[in-house]
Amino acid sequence: MSSCVLKLSKIQLKKLQEHYQNDLLKKNIPYSEFSAKKNGVSITAYTSGKVVFQGKDAEAEASKWGSIAETPKKKSGTTLPAGFAQLSVIGSDEVGNGSYFGPLCVCAAYAEKEHLAELNRIGVKDSKMLTDPQIRQIAEILKELIPYKLLVVTPKKYNEIQPKYNAVHMKVALHNQAISLLLAQISPQKPEAILIDQFTPPANYQKYVKSEVRQVKEPIYFTTKGEQYHLAVAAASIISRASFLEELDQASQALGIKVPSGAGAPSDKAAAALLKRGGIQLLSNYAKLHFANTEKAQKLL
Ligand code: MG
Repeated sequence: MSSCVLKLSKIQLKKLQEHYQNDLLKKNIPYSEFSAKKNGVSITAYTSGKVVFQGKDAEAEASKWGSIAETPKKKSGTTLPAGFAQLSVIGSDEVGNGSYFGPLCVCAAYAEKEHLAELNRIGVKDSKMLTDPQIRQIAEILKELIPYKLLVVTPKKYNEIQPKYNAVHMKVALHNQAISLLLAQISPQKPEAILIDQFTPPANYQKYVKSEVRQVKEPIYFTTKGEQYHLAVAAASIISRASFLEELDQASQALGIKVPSGAGAPSDKAAAALLKRGGIQLLSNYAKLHFANTEKAQKLL
């Protein structure tokens, strides 16, 4: 369990209390203004202005409010600047990488500080905490609200690229391209920072990105669970996921069977059905062939 301590002004403390008004606890802690619990993080605000955040995601919750006295050191070695959650940030994330069926969707989204309150209001958060219908609904609003660049690699395209580019290299190229296009789109505006939801060690990213023609020159931060550190990553994740779901739906409709997400036994079964119907030719339009599921499906036949 981690904990973080912030020192806030009286005005900030009031804002904090308003923000957590639905999560307040009826605890009488000496010298405290209030205590609350949200997303598994306990928050205790003292009359002195000291605020203690405790719990697994204490850092992420605290970073919404200001500079943490001790900036968290990430496992990856990346350190985000103080008050990172409040900056104007381009965040980037991908969906579909671990699913046999469906595309690989990469999105970069720009969340300006002026938009952060609105993003909170429409429910932008870690997509793992949202249902699929919520994700679709929020994605629609997001696409109207903030600048973003979405790249969708269909399974057909993926299978063409994959022998040349391994999966990590492909993702590096896509994140770089999405960010580069988004930077061009929002120019002359510039984000205060760029954050990629980390999928490979930063050194590995730098190695692969060197071969890209339009390499993003701005410094990039990497962190796992990026959606907890900035709403831009959460927004990118929601837009990618909605697109992935949409593509799976379309595949299901075209094929007349439920095309599953993931890479488990249901994927093997669906793949076997497609192989029977149209061979590897048909399957290659819907699935990432290099996954072990292809072999398992062939054995099922
Ligand atoms: Mg991710």
